[in-house]
Amino acid sequence: MEYLKKNYFSIFIICAACIGFALWLSDTVSAQPVAAVQTAPDQVIIIDAGHGGEDGGAVSCTGVNESQINLEIALRVDDFCHLLGYSTIMLRTDDISLHDDTARTISEKKVSDLKNRVKLVNQVGNGILVSIHQNQFSESKYHGSQVFYAATDGSQPLAEQLQDNLRAVIDPSNNRQCKKADSVYLMSKIQCPAVLVECGFLSNAQEEAMLRDAQYQKKLAAVITCSICSYIQEESGENEI
Ligand SMILES: [Zn+2]
Repeated sequence: MEYLKKNYFSIFIICAACIGFALWLSDTVSAQPVAAVQTAPDQVIIIDAGHGGEDGGAVSCTGVNESQINLEIALRVDDFCHLLGYSTIMLRTDDISLHDDTARTISEKKVSDLKNRVKLVNQVGNGILVSIHQNQFSESKYHGSQVFYAATDGSQPLAEQLQDNLRAVIDPSNNRQCKKADSVYLMSKIQCPAVLVECGFLSNAQEEAMLRDAQYQKKLAAVITCSICSYIQEESGENEI
């Protein structure tokens, strides 16, 4: 926490520059890796597009599956990470569930899928996990992204940084605070720093329309990527000016 207070301003400046750089790159070059802005450390950014396959997650107010929007944002995060020179692993790159062949019922497939995601994350040495989801509520008035964090070391400061950057770049009126992910299976079983970001509410018509928009997805992905990269650089002491 102390480093956040001390270096908050420099982190924000670096992150803002990074987001601008990532957005510029995404508009001007193809998906070829380019020289990293800074030397990328060993960390591997693990990108989890929530749900998939038979498990579509929440359904939006216009009938779009959460799993589809999660994947679109996740693929953009993956592109930005590569543009900035970071290694990534995506838990899924298609509309699939990661369950074992032996799983038969929908509930068995869901349990198997989650266990396999945990296994994949915990196999990675030096990983940092970001799990991408969309929120939904019975009342349509609620909106705004919110970040949840695992109990593992580093997760809370990463979540605070990401929540702050989402507020600054995406929606300054979003006063949601990041929270510990108390009952999320994946977040309770993984061993690395991990955050889960609910990018917005699929039950709010205005936000749902934005979440389906490619430019908005790109902006979200840039904020997510740069928050993680800033965190990695800060942890490895590369932000010392
Ligand atoms: Zn979800």
